[in-house]
Amino acid sequence: LDDLERRLLAALTGFSAPVHRGLKVPSIIVADDLTPSETVQLPRDLVLGFATNGGSTTSHVALLARAMGIPAVTGLGDITSRVRAGETVLIDGTNGTLKDGGEVPIFANLHPGVPVGGLREHGARGIGLYRSEYLWLNRGHEPTEEDQFRAYRDAARFTAQLGEGASITIRALDIGGDKIVRGISHKEANPFLGNRSIRYLLANRDMFKTQLRAILRASAFGRVRLMYPMISCVEELDESAEVLAEVKRELDAAGVAYDREMPAGAMIEVPSAAINADAIAKRVDFFSIGTNDLVQYVMAADRGNESVASLYQPTNPAVLWLMRHVIDAARHRGIKVGVCGESASDPVVGVLWAAMGVDLLSMSATYIPVISAVLSRLTRADLDAYARIPVEMGNDVTAREIYDRCRAWLAEHVFDFENIVL
Ligand code: PEP
Ligand code: MG
Repeated sequence: LDDLERRLLAALTGFSAPVHRGLKVPSIIVADDLTPSETVQLPRDLVLGFATNGGSTTSHVALLARAMGIPAVTGLGDITSRVRAGETVLIDGTNGTLKDGGEVPIFANLHPGVPVGGLREHGARGIGLYRSEYLWLNRGHEPTEEDQFRAYRDAARFTAQLGEGASITIRALDIGGDKIVRGISHKEANPFLGNRSIRYLLANRDMFKTQLRAILRASAFGRVRLMYPMISCVEELDESAEVLAEVKRELDAAGVAYDREMPAGAMIEVPSAAINADAIAKRVDFFSIGTNDLVQYVMAADRGNESVASLYQPTNPAVLWLMRHVIDAARHRGIKVGVCGESASDPVVGVLWAAMGVDLLSMSATYIPVISAVLSRLTRADLDAYARIPVEMGNDVTAREIYDRCRAWLAEHVFDFENIVL
């Protein structure tokens, strides 16, 4: 009757666009439901499978699909709202699942000066970390406001081409540690614990204000987010917010356009910020967990020193405890939390962050295809099971044991895992 109703209405109104209008490449059809006539009208050579909200294994679409030898999964409830046109999904008509772990978007980390061409090719959905300090490191001196503005604006414009939902997170200057700019950085006995990043910016207000002005001006050209690096306490955020408000007032007075809603977030990469994540979360619009530094500081193991490389352990129970704590704080305060440390590019670890509830992963673009392939073969239920592995193993285990157990689970549950990660 539904089918007849639709066909009758189409005939009466003269509007009878075929259901497959716009279908140009072989695709999986994701629909609320399909009537028998809609199903048979579809060009067989362009239909790889069906996934529908309604129906059952004996509904018409399922029966016809079976007759045509096309895999179909019906009765998925809300699949039309969970996948987007053009997204890659894996359909398992035998077990009745559509794997969609790809719901966690994967963004790219970008160094200014490195060609952006590969980002689209590798499937980056945005730029999750723009390491602005490379504008200083590439030049060896402070870039002018115009130099910065042009670089940020061009990156923001490029980001818009990465599709709907794309944004660029520009991190304020993160110098210090191993990122030394002659003439700007000072010699320190212990640079990783020294006058780095936000500490340096708050002590050099003019430089901070220049950068904020350039970032705000660029925000008129694309979806820009500002991120403060190396936050270790709330007063750094309060002071930064004051500086940002002052720069906005100055831009307003000069009539300069910028995005008034530009989100401002914090890197969570210092243990004190991770532990006090709830208070930090109250003051920002998002978190991005920098596991490169967070693991280094939690384990007291220099991230660049090979002789302590074995202590660089993202799956150490202490690190996992802290990650859960930060993710919970973000949830509690209703802000998004991403991971932009390179740990996310290892599928065993990146999938774990996604499973534990992060909203976004950002990594070097070349790793994106592998992690996307693994995630797209997992459902949310799979991810929940995966997240339970380290919880069930408890704290009295080594990072290696957790890593190996997780890896074995992926090898068992992800179709073709060994080949994907090869
Ligand atoms: C991090 O610390 O994880 C991070 C992404 O920042 P960087 O590697 O630039 O210190
Ligand atoms: Mg860092």
